[in-house]
Amino acid sequence: MADKITINEDHSLNVSDNPIIPFIEGDGTGVDIWPAAKLVLDAAAGKYGRTIEWVEVLAGEKAFNETGDWLPQETVDTFHEYLIGIKGPLTTPIGGGFRSLNVALRQLLDLYVCLRPVRWFEGVPSPVKKPELVDMVIFRENTEDIYAGIEAEAGSPEAETIREMIREVFGREVSEDSGIGIKPISRTGSQRLQRAAMKYAVERNRKTVHWVHKGNIMKYTEGAFQKWGYELVREEFSDVAVGWDDCGGDPGDKILVQDAIADIALQQVLTRPAEFDVIATMNLNGDYLSDALAAQVGGIGIAPGANINYVTGHGIFEATHGTAPKYAGQDKVNPSSVLLSGVLMFEHLGWREAADDIIRAVEQTIGEKIVTYDFARLMDGATQVKCSEFASAIVDRL
Ligand code: NAP
Repeated sequence: MADKITINEDHSLNVSDNPIIPFIEGDGTGVDIWPAAKLVLDAAAGKYGRTIEWVEVLAGEKAFNETGDWLPQETVDTFHEYLIGIKGPLTTPIGGGFRSLNVALRQLLDLYVCLRPVRWFEGVPSPVKKPELVDMVIFRENTEDIYAGIEAEAGSPEAETIREMIREVFGREVSEDSGIGIKPISRTGSQRLQRAAMKYAVERNRKTVHWVHKGNIMKYTEGAFQKWGYELVREEFSDVAVGWDDCGGDPGDKILVQDAIADIALQQVLTRPAEFDVIATMNLNGDYLSDALAAQVGGIGIAPGANINYVTGHGIFEATHGTAPKYAGQDKVNPSSVLLSGVLMFEHLGWREAADDIIRAVEQTIGEKIVTYDFARLMDGATQVKCSEFASAIVDRL
């Protein structure tokens, strides 16, 4: 009998050896990468006597073709009920009433953390000289900043109303041909993200946490994010962590919490990657940072991601690339992004041994230069295999 994953009052999860986990196969190359990832996840779980009861839910083109709806309510309800799910990439419907199905799912379930670990696997082609120094985990805020989506088109009545208000309240003139966007950053939204980053750093024995912000220019949004972050450390984490200003840069055996201005941080993650560990930042900075960092360690074919609400227990683990429609159904592309998202999901469920086994097997497979086309074209002496063959090679090494 399979069981629902449930959440306790202290926000920890109850996960049996036979949990029910909903999945969205994904559009385009989803038909290739999802079965490949599932093969590996099932084999690794099975080693420890665990069986996942996968329940398919529909979204994207498959949902539209079968139900006429891009994101059926039943899918949202199922994720709501079973807490944890995983998904392949989804086509963004053009003119479908959604900015993006991914964004819609994050908003409907209030998945406020976008979690993006970035690390290098030996042998993966990288544009930097020392990719082995890259081992960072980005916590990107998922509900505020530009994701609040409050924008008025140039010349619209809404833009005119906002211009008038700015004239009255700030005594400033905004030119009438301006589109206007509003960037809300709240203490609640900032601190729930920062709290998640701090807890992660404590649980994983990480050494530093950076608040990345542009507070030198945007004092009451990005600057406030930095200030609220340090306040949180003093109020809730002073036994295990200390802010830079409170220790003069010498944290003793505590976690050092510091901040970095976004522009210089984007330079330093390239030039001094070893100095960065856990990073928490707002939505737009996090968008740039996570993709720039993924490029350092092999690109989007291998970058995992998750969207999590640590309070309600909801989490959707997902491939970070798109549907790559030109390769769909060819059994060609790299399944690592959705597979490593599954590994992240196993870690989140407390299945560390199975997660570690997959990581070791992926390392070994890539180390033996058995890779899909995307890596093969950048490696000398590689054996290029299909998507499904790559998965089988990993299973053989589990
Ligand atoms: P994309 O699907 O990510 O593909 C861009 C390129 O990235 C591909 O042509 C391929 O590069 C490489 N790539 C993607 N997946 C790969 C994989 N598994 N293994 C190896 N290489 C991979 O981006 P797009 O073409 O801009 O978007 C296509 C559709 O996906 C759109 O409808 C978009 O809205 C949607 N999308 C969805 C998500 C999501 O669901 N999370 C994210 C982004 C985009 P090469 O051709 O150079 O080999």
